[in-house]
Amino acid sequence: MQVFDHPEFDHHRQIVFGCDRDSGLHAIIAIHDTRRGPALGGLRIYPYASEAEALTDVLRLSRGMTYKSALADLPLGGGKAVIIADPRREKTPSMLQAMGRLVESLGGRYITAEDSGTDEADMRIIRSETLHVSGLGHDGDSGDPSPFTAYGVFCAMKSAVRHRFGHDDLHELRVAIQGVGHVGAHLARELHAAGAQLVLTDVDRDSLGVLADELGAESVMPDAIFDADVEVFAPCAMGAVLTEAVVGRLKAGVICGAANNQLATAEVAERLHGRGVLYTPDYIANAGGVIEVEAQRHPHYNRSAVMRHVERIAITVDEILSRAQAQDMSPAVVADQLARERLAV
Ligand code: NAD
Repeated sequence: MQVFDHPEFDHHRQIVFGCDRDSGLHAIIAIHDTRRGPALGGLRIYPYASEAEALTDVLRLSRGMTYKSALADLPLGGGKAVIIADPRREKTPSMLQAMGRLVESLGGRYITAEDSGTDEADMRIIRSETLHVSGLGHDGDSGDPSPFTAYGVFCAMKSAVRHRFGHDDLHELRVAIQGVGHVGAHLARELHAAGAQLVLTDVDRDSLGVLADELGAESVMPDAIFDADVEVFAPCAMGAVLTEAVVGRLKAGVICGAANNQLATAEVAERLHGRGVLYTPDYIANAGGVIEVEAQRHPHYNRSAVMRHVERIAITVDEILSRAQAQDMSPAVVADQLARERLAV
């Protein structure tokens, strides 16, 4: 398995392989960049088919965190951690404690947080071994960042809608949301409160039905969401949803959602641009969560200051979409350029 010649290797500062025989821990931590601050990024537990697959994921995701934090104007670098295990069957307190010791061994260069396969209770176990963990909540409040992520997507969407349609009035705007889990449900409620008309889908048909009834929204089968007659498509389920085939079906003029890594390939961004569909780069739209997680690390947590910071996502989206329009380029490419500029100073 190659590291320095790996296609996803991007001059990562440090890559640590950690093993604990007693608990069965097999983990990789990747610190991509620390120029702006310690490398913060979630801990993912997933039954990767191979070490190579886990390495690919952690290299790619840690780099994404560097870009996300830079464009969210946070004093953070980018990092990520993965444990090769099935979180439902193999995750144990002793494995999480061993992970906490591995994080501690990096002396604060890497700060861990929740990601898929981990939750707030897991972070509390890790906290017994290291202070370098965030997302544990404040003053008895939950550490769940989803409401902040949803609010950031809402702010980003208003900015993108203004660029594409010339106004940011969400009243009567038709929005399709794919996935109404933690983030998607919050987003749906905010859009509903702003007067938007919603088309919702989820593979969890029971939760979907309850939410659709609550909001008077239309609900469709998962595959039908791509054909919905809407102005905005909000992917809030999983990554790689924007394939060539999906782009060919979408009727929306704006894409803005919470899911990570929405573009199946880099070429899809060009295809969207060519079709006049405004793609809001996912890692900017969904940065509300990391803004909240960063704020939770500090003793003087101030919720309204966090909300104001999340609102600044709209300003970044505005800058990227203006530049993309002026240079006739895809916003995805412009976002990466801007992130690199912010890292260089
Ligand atoms: P979640 O698991 O709570 O919600 C995802 C929802 O999508 C679930 O209800 C699931 O049933 C549904 N779903 C899965 N496959 C689907 C399909 N094919 N069609 C329709 N629905 C489907 O996750 P979440 O925390 O709401 O996060 C949603 C996305 O946003 C994820 O990609 C996540 O990585 C990203 N994200 C989340 C946060 C956060 O604060 N939670 C922050 C940044 C990015």
